[in-house]
Amino acid sequence: MEKRSEEKDKIDFASAFEVREVGIVKSIQKIIAIATGLPSCVSGQMLEFVNGEKGLVIGFTEDEVQILVLGSAANLRAGCEVYNKGQFLSLPVGKGFLGRVINALCAPEDGMGDIDSSEEYPVFKVAPGVMERIPVEKTLETGTLSIDAIIPIAKGQRQLLIGDRLTGKTSVAIDAIINQKGKDVVCIYCCIGKTHSSLLKVIETLKDRDVLSHTIILSGTASTSPGEQYLAPYTACMLGEYFMNNGGDVLVIFDDLTRHAWIYRQISLLLGRAPGREAYPGDIFYVHSQLMERAGYLKPDLGNGSMTFLPILEVQQGDVTGYISTNVISMTDGQLYFSTPLFNKGFRPAIDFGLSVSRIGSKAQWPAIKSLSRTLRLEYLQYKELVQMTQLRATGLSKSAEQLLRRGEAITQLLIQDKNDPVPSEVQVAYLYALSLGILDELTVSEIKKFKKEFVGKVNEWDRSLLPVISETREFKDANIERMRRCLQRYFEQE
Ligand code: ATP
Ligand code: MG
Repeated sequence: MEKRSEEKDKIDFASAFEVREVGIVKSIQKIIAIATGLPSCVSGQMLEFVNGEKGLVIGFTEDEVQILVLGSAANLRAGCEVYNKGQFLSLPVGKGFLGRVINALCAPEDGMGDIDSSEEYPVFKVAPGVMERIPVEKTLETGTLSIDAIIPIAKGQRQLLIGDRLTGKTSVAIDAIINQKGKDVVCIYCCIGKTHSSLLKVIETLKDRDVLSHTIILSGTASTSPGEQYLAPYTACMLGEYFMNNGGDVLVIFDDLTRHAWIYRQISLLLGRAPGREAYPGDIFYVHSQLMERAGYLKPDLGNGSMTFLPILEVQQGDVTGYISTNVISMTDGQLYFSTPLFNKGFRPAIDFGLSVSRIGSKAQWPAIKSLSRTLRLEYLQYKELVQMTQLRATGLSKSAEQLLRRGEAITQLLIQDKNDPVPSEVQVAYLYALSLGILDELTVSEIKKFKKEFVGKVNEWDRSLLPVISETREFKDANIERMRRCLQRYFEQE
């Protein structure tokens, strides 16, 4: 009895006194506050200014602390107090964030009122270790045929989308969100340093396709403070971790990390750190890798959740050898390279298969798609080579070369896909099967387009359970092959 009252005293004592260190701001340099009198704070800790604004400890000199102001620095003056409560930066998480647009500090930006949350998570967190993870085992269906068939992405994978401006990178990422409808995957779109209007377009598309309810939009647009833009991807990751730790699957899109690197460079230059290659600070590799590490697939006793990352990088003139691109390429499990010439030729999504790779995705691919797409990449690349050669020498092609040309053209037409119109995996199986039979080789461009538009409707009319069965079993075997063959035969007979 006595012991219990002792414990009670302890609790009262702790809540009655707030431990805090008081520092004084010495100067403000745009978004950086320099303070003295905070001897015990460490990097990554959160401080609070006297006006309630939050700051992040980002560096030190011998007796000063460098603080990145996370909100607006406009109302801060030299001489004001700054408090250290010994806390690391943590922000609210929860299901209430689904369907909402928020900023990097988890405050609502959509004018729809407060967001309910009972838990907080640390924004900067050490990624789960190897023993806490398992190899990838499920596929992330992006709904883009060229990706799912040729460069598949697995849940828990980090796949980089890299390419010049206006090559359709965002569109492919948004299609992946649209395709998660009804698949129980939480999607997080994190906008970093992009224009507000481009973000509004994304929100509009997601609303239009009715997929906002499983999506969180994190706005770190160019008009928000640099501190928020720097923080945005970490906050997105933190929100994803909440769902992953509760056993869910999460897809996070960082649009884009080039701008995140710019912001970090700007902050570092303000801090007076020595610029290194391309004027980026030496720790930019660490900044991105500690983020990329946090994707993964947790083992069953930790809930079996997963977090997949699709970071986007913008390059100039197709040059992927820059500092940031080589860094991020080295820390991801593959990349999709978007090419301007392909985009301009009308091959959209403009993914260059020669330069794109997925190192682990095929392990988790649907068996049905895997078996049908085995030779697709090779056939397509051979076709591209042949096209280049025949531009020089158009006559005297062998029969097999002619056949390859026809097949290549059919593949090209099959892979061309409009944006915001993802193709479900079972439909992809149907297309790939038709291709494997060689039926599409004989068709003209407009006939293939017509086939893509009409065939699914016909299958559902003639054999209603076929596509659902393929979707459920993820396999394409004996009886189902025969059923699909009959549908194809019927479709082309009536043509
Ligand atoms: P940015 O560099 O501005 O971020 P981006 O590489 O993300 O550009 P998007 O914004 O996705 O590219 O697309 C650029 C333009 O191309 C848009 O106008 C979009 O409508 C169009 N587009 C993208 N994908 C397709 C597609 N599959 N079919 C037709 N048009 C497309
Ligand atoms: Mg974009």
